[in-house]
Amino acid sequence: MIPSERTELQKNRGLASMSAQETKQKLLPPVVDTSTALREEISRARSSGRTIAFVPTMGALHAGHISLIEAAENSGAYVVVSIYVNPTQFSPHEDLAAYPRTIDADRAACRDAGVDLIFTPDDAEMYPPGDQTRVHPGPLAETMCGLFRPGHFEGVSTVVTKLFNLVQPDVAYFGQKDAQQALIIRRMVKDLCIPVRIEVCPIVREPDGLAMSSRNAYLSTEQRSRALCLYRALCEGRDMLLHRGTGGSGDQGIQHVVYAMQNTVAKVASPEPEPVTIDYMTVVDAETLEPATKPIGRVMLAGAVRIGETRLIDNLLIDLPADRR
Ligand code: AMP
Repeated sequence: MIPSERTELQKNRGLASMSAQETKQKLLPPVVDTSTALREEISRARSSGRTIAFVPTMGALHAGHISLIEAAENSGAYVVVSIYVNPTQFSPHEDLAAYPRTIDADRAACRDAGVDLIFTPDDAEMYPPGDQTRVHPGPLAETMCGLFRPGHFEGVSTVVTKLFNLVQPDVAYFGQKDAQQALIIRRMVKDLCIPVRIEVCPIVREPDGLAMSSRNAYLSTEQRSRALCLYRALCEGRDMLLHRGTGGSGDQGIQHVVYAMQNTVAKVASPEPEPVTIDYMTVVDAETLEPATKPIGRVMLAGAVRIGETRLIDNLLIDLPADRR
């Protein structure tokens, strides 16, 4: 960052001097766990002229989350991070109880990233006694992960609506890692007239390409090496669509890409001490998530696999020429 930009940023953030910035870097950000305390802090920030940027998370923060926080920081806003493992987006047989909870490390990571406020509500705060209202998303939620995690996106849409109502951010940051979630949230804020701008940040990957995820912590060393099957499969599909050709026209070509991705998962994931299960490997329109019928325009290659008990998702966006046959 050039010095004039830094000064501008400090001005935007209402920081008096560099030493104030340095002090902030050293102190752990305050943690509030009630909506009353959250509102107090946010209205104080607003009355000092700050805009509010919001990064909702389930914690166990890694570089993917930090990239969203950095984008929020770069906007010059007062940055609020929520850490809440939302029960309504987990099915009964899923990993709610086992989900990693690392609040001390998360708080330190938030301090290092310059977060202003952390919100850690409990279930009673988010789902008060007698709670019964849900936000039901539309067809965007009925494909891909929606087919394998019934109720998941209803839980996500509900909790994000509640968090938006509590934080009332000007802008909220989501990751392309959860591409379907990001599209559903974008649609939801339009449909429900929620006055927040949604920013979607690129996927942060490990050096070998594995998309960062809190769930990667579940993988044994042996599973970790086979987990790469998903990213490799997506790269194989991308390579066919962009460079090598699909070996078929239109719909048939897309089907060849899907088979090739499935084969790559099987090849990279074997030899098998335990099978890797494919939930889906697909090529879809990047906006509607409907299956692509022709290799034209902006498409998303997406997949979900299960390695042992661990479910991993990933995707790649590619732009194909509009006039391609
Ligand atoms: P989670 O804590 O898994 O609910 O994720 C919180 C936010 O971080 C979501 O918007 C995710 O899409 C985003 N996120 C998670 N992993 C990554 C990643 N590897 N790269 C970019 N964003 C991510």
